[in-house]
Amino acid sequence: MIQHFGTAAGRKVISALEREGYEAVFVGGSVRDHLLGKPAKDFDIATSAEPTEVKAIFPSTVDVGIAHGTVLVLIDGEAIEVTTYRTEGTYSDHRHPDEVRFVRSLQEDLARRDFTINALAVTLEGELIDLFGGKNDLEQGMIRAIGEAAERFNEDALRMIRAIRFAAVLDFTIDEKTCHAIREQKALLRHVAVERIKAEMDKLFTGVNPGKAFDYAVHTQLREDLPLFPQDSTTLGKTAPYETALEGWASLMAVGNFGPSEMVRAYKLSNREKQFLHAVDDMMEKRKVRPYTVEDFYTYPMDVLIVCEKLVRKLMPGAEPVSFEEMERRKCDLPIRSKAELTVRGSDLISWAGVRGGQWTGEWLQKIESAVLHGKCINDPDDIKGWFLNEFNREE
Ligand code: ATP
Ligand code: MG
Repeated sequence: MIQHFGTAAGRKVISALEREGYEAVFVGGSVRDHLLGKPAKDFDIATSAEPTEVKAIFPSTVDVGIAHGTVLVLIDGEAIEVTTYRTEGTYSDHRHPDEVRFVRSLQEDLARRDFTINALAVTLEGELIDLFGGKNDLEQGMIRAIGEAAERFNEDALRMIRAIRFAAVLDFTIDEKTCHAIREQKALLRHVAVERIKAEMDKLFTGVNPGKAFDYAVHTQLREDLPLFPQDSTTLGKTAPYETALEGWASLMAVGNFGPSEMVRAYKLSNREKQFLHAVDDMMEKRKVRPYTVEDFYTYPMDVLIVCEKLVRKLMPGAEPVSFEEMERRKCDLPIRSKAELTVRGSDLISWAGVRGGQWTGEWLQKIESAVLHGKCINDPDDIKGWFLNEFNREE
């Protein structure tokens, strides 16, 4: 028995569905995480009610995936995913079921899920429903496909990435038969939309043990069918754990010696991810040949610098490491954080020099920026004026 599982709002949703004569249970990740003693994220609910029936019961709902049977119920300030029990027909494209069929039996719904540990359900009374030995697998730290593993990966090839993702996130072992099936079916991964692979990799990178997933990617040969993956997965493993998924992507790039644009294309990364990878790549290239400069601290955000330094430590044993405290201090000590913080404008230079404005103003503003950054003058109009007139008259 699991007393008082779920949130008050989630329990209210189940009560309301039951009151109308339907079945409803908490299912999936929240049950798994609870049994592992971890805080659960989303308390998803599965129900025998069809989407229209769910919508008739609750005043406030959002259609988030009606075709797949999912309705978002908004209640007491919470948004709860309620999904109709369903089975999936055949999968001729290895990624989408040809049809989704709503059913009235929880057993059928649980059987279409990927792994035993993800097919556990809890009733409002606190009864654990465990039809596939998921609890035992949780205790053993085992990821095991439900039913015939090869068939399950053949239906939806993304499940292979999900297997290694859960290995990283939970630090679990993948059952040998399931591993074997991945080796057999890995080529099907190319039918899967890269966005779905990417979303699983984001979770994989921030898991407690990404190295484990990398080892499985090698062991099952799955890496050969990933869009881009380094040959040297042992070194990649050494760069883990990662504080953010971005750090994971940067490591994949650095260890595999891939270019940032290549990474962006292969995994359809977002603009923010693209910017980050380009910045890390630039910084790494410079760091390979020299220590950090004031310009580096001025140019790159702290997260880029930290990820770069972490990679330098792991991948360039000859380079002298710099402590994160020292890096923070050097960033903090910068006299300005951007050009906008300069206390002078182009118009000031024009009036001081008594020369008409032109290309020279921009060039001199840049020189002033650099002079302030290097402490040759302080960021104060009078001080800058003195420095500027001296230099300007000398050069012009
Ligand atoms: P997380 O805590 O990382 O969100 P999760 O188990 O909740 O993990 P989701 O991707 O949110 O994972 O999926 C919710 C549930 O839906 C899973 O627990 C599993 O039962 C089922 N599921 C998700 N994706 C698949 C899939 N590709 N094939 C079969 N079942 C799946
Ligand atoms: Mg989830």
